[in-house]
Amino acid sequence: MKTTDKYKHDWQEQLAKCIRCGTCRSVCPVFAVTGNENSTARGKVRLIEAVTEGDLELTHEMQQRISQCLMCKACVTGCPSSVKTDWLFLDARKALAEENSVPFMKKLAFTSLTYRWLFEKALGAGTLLQRLVLKDSPDGRGMVSRIPLPAAGLNARRIIPPLATKPLRSNPLVLKPRGPRRARVAFFTGCMLNYVYPDAGKAIVDILVHNGIEVTLPIDQYCCGTPAFTSGDFPVGRYLAERNIEALSKQPLDAIITGCPSCGLALKHEYGHIIDDPRLKEKWTEIATKVHDITQFLVEIGHREDFHEVKLKLTYHDPCHLVRGMGVSQEPRQMLKAIPGIDFVEMAHADECCGAGGTFSLSYYDISRQINDKKLDAAQDTNAQVLVTGCSVCRMHIDDGLSRRQGTIKVRHTAEILAAAYRIPGKEVIS
Ligand code: SF4
Ligand code: SF4
Repeated sequence: MKTTDKYKHDWQEQLAKCIRCGTCRSVCPVFAVTGNENSTARGKVRLIEAVTEGDLELTHEMQQRISQCLMCKACVTGCPSSVKTDWLFLDARKALAEENSVPFMKKLAFTSLTYRWLFEKALGAGTLLQRLVLKDSPDGRGMVSRIPLPAAGLNARRIIPPLATKPLRSNPLVLKPRGPRRARVAFFTGCMLNYVYPDAGKAIVDILVHNGIEVTLPIDQYCCGTPAFTSGDFPVGRYLAERNIEALSKQPLDAIITGCPSCGLALKHEYGHIIDDPRLKEKWTEIATKVHDITQFLVEIGHREDFHEVKLKLTYHDPCHLVRGMGVSQEPRQMLKAIPGIDFVEMAHADECCGAGGTFSLSYYDISRQINDKKLDAAQDTNAQVLVTGCSVCRMHIDDGLSRRQGTIKVRHTAEILAAAYRIPGKEVIS
C-alpha cells in the first residue's frame, strides 16, 4: 500500500475543514519572514491535499516544505474553522519520514536517545571534551564553536550553553518535603534541565520541597521524544513515550511536574497520538491528567507566600508549548508579580514564538534569528533587567540573540526567580 493511501482517510476530515480564509497567514512567524505562502498553515494544508489527490508525491522537497514550521500552534488557536493543523503537520511529517526516511544525522541522534546508558556516557564524554570544539563566548553567556559545524546546527557565532558537569539526576532522587507532606510528585526533568540547565531544574525541586511537596526524580525516565516524533521519527518517539509511561506509572503519584513545556505537551497530549499499545494507552490516560507545569501546580495547590524582596525589573516570554500547548500563561505571571520588589513589565507580543521551535533553529537558523530579533526588540523596549521564561530552548535561543547584539538582559527560568524569592540557600538573587 502506498504511504499516502495509509493516511489519506485520517487527513481528509481536517483538510475539508479549511476554508482557505488565510487568517493563519497573519499569525505565522515563518511567513512573516519568508513571505512564502508555503510557509503558512494554509499553504501546507494545500500541499497535503494535493498529495491526497495524487497531484503531488511525498518527495524530499515536500519534506523540506512541511518541516519549515515552528510547530508554534499560532495557526491552530487562530483558525476560525478549528483545523487541527498541528496534528495534520505531525502526521504529514510521519508519512514523509516513512517514505524518505529521516535525515541521517537526525536519525543517529534520535536513535542514540533510545540507548539511555550509552547516551549518558556519550554526554559525559562530551562534557569533558566540549572545550576541544567549543570556547567561551566573549560575553560569558555560553560557548561558541571554534569551527563551523553545520551538521550540528552550529556556525562560528552561535552561542550555546555548555553541558553541565553534573546532571540534575546525579543528585538525590527522592527529596523529603519541608514540613508536613502535602503531595507526592514525580519531576520529569527532560533533557535540557537535566544536562544543560541543572540549576533551573534544582530550583524546581527546591521550590516544590519548600512548598511541602515530596519530589522523586524517576531514574528510568528517557527523553520525552519530542525532537524525534516532531521530525517524523515515530518509531523512536513511540519507544521513548512507552518507556516514560512505564517509568511514571511505577509508583502512586499526586502529580507529574514538568519545567519544560515541550515535555509537558508530549506527556499530556501528544503521547495519546503516538502510542498504539492499548495497555500503555490506558496507563497514559491516567498519567496525562496528572501532568502539570511547575507554576500551574503551585498555583493550583496554593503556594507559600513567604517571598522575600527581590528588586528586579522583569519581563516574561510565553513559550509556545506552554501558552498554547498546555494553556499556562497567567500562573507564572501571578507568582512573579506576588514577589515584593518585582517590577513586572509586559513586553509586546509576549506570546509570539521566539523562533527556536525545537530543532527548527538547527535547520533554519537564519529564519529563526529573524523571528528572534522581533522578540529581542520587544524585550529590550521594556528596559527589563531579566527576561523570564519557562522553557530552556527559548532561553538558549534568546540568549544567543542577546549575545549577538550585546544585550544586557539576563535570561532565567521562572523557577530560578521563585527560588531566589524564597531565599533558598544557593539561590542568589540575580544581580
Ligand atoms: S485559518 Fe484555518 S481555515 Fe483559514 S486558511 Fe488557515 S488553516 Fe485554513
Ligand atoms: S505552527 Fe506556527 S510556524 Fe507552523 S504554520 Fe502554524 S503559525 Fe506557521
